[in-house]
Amino acid sequence: MLEATPQDFGRVLSSMCTEPCPPARAAADRFLATNPGDPGTYPEIARLEERAVDLLGEITELADPAGYVATGGTEANIQAVRIARNRADTDDPVVVAPESAHFSFHKAAAMLDVEIRTTPLVDYRADPDAIAEAIDSDTALVVAVAGSTEFGRVDPVPALAELAHDAGALCHVDAAWGGFHLPFTDHDWSFSDAPIDTMTIDPHKAGQAPIPAGGLLARDESLLEVLEVETPYLESSTQVTLTGTRSGAGVAGALAAMETLWPDGYRDNHERAMANATWLADELRERGYEVVDPELPLVAADVSQSIIDALRRRGWRISRTGAGDLRIVCMPHVTRSMLRSFVADLDWY
Ligand code: PLP
Repeated sequence: MLEATPQDFGRVLSSMCTEPCPPARAAADRFLATNPGDPGTYPEIARLEERAVDLLGEITELADPAGYVATGGTEANIQAVRIARNRADTDDPVVVAPESAHFSFHKAAAMLDVEIRTTPLVDYRADPDAIAEAIDSDTALVVAVAGSTEFGRVDPVPALAELAHDAGALCHVDAAWGGFHLPFTDHDWSFSDAPIDTMTIDPHKAGQAPIPAGGLLARDESLLEVLEVETPYLESSTQVTLTGTRSGAGVAGALAAMETLWPDGYRDNHERAMANATWLADELRERGYEVVDPELPLVAADVSQSIIDALRRRGWRISRTGAGDLRIVCMPHVTRSMLRSFVADLDWY
């Protein structure tokens, strides 16, 4: 038997993953030896995956969604870039994305041999004017971020989607982390009323599903068809996913988490997390730190590197933004008493 203890979340303030909800853990265990990558041989997990995609569609207000449960946001973002590249009517496809776009888009660009053009932010969000300026006739994809990794900010999605549409490009929304919070905020757009083509929404982040469970959604099947390859030795004939064999545990865990928590459990999580983020932001401000106002439950503040290092030595798992700010993600495992104890430790410095 392994002697190591699994992760104790008691001091983890940096992660976008969390303790899976118990029914999701049990479901993942039951389907551990199934492969949704071969639906002909494993029809039951394939059926569960369809239900999981339908639920992701319900959460994002997309009727008849196409998509699948990916390994995570990185795979979903790579696939969104791949869809756009494969459809583009140019030899030099370009992805236009705000500077806040997750580094997975840079991996995608390198792997798929597309140019990525990033644009400056205004108030930590994409600036539609800067995006418009970056778009040209080679633009295959415009990325909007709905819950940025560093600041939790939501881009003006409808404006970016319109810009993409007008340029004949696709629009991909990266809601890998934000997607399970957005239904409970007052944002005024959704898949149903903005010309969004694809979206990343990861059950293994705020969806409280076990890893690996990312989500790629597409407005319709034809978008996924450009990813199709033939799979001669499997019982099913084609595959659109990036990986071959996939984890049935990820699919079953994602479905169980969503069936358990959507919508009331996710609403409770969101309200508790936002209350915690607002409380922490106020506490930090009272101590003289500059804080980026939390739009979703993520708090960034200009705490110095030496203090961050000292808190890490006390066992706190905290991270920094690219600009060096302290970054705390209020995930479901992050309680008010954890945050009180963190602030008490901060007061030593
Ligand atoms: N997109 C966003 C907005 C993220 O915050 C992250 C990870 O934190 C990713 C994509 C990548 O997700 P993963 O680490 O599951 O591949």
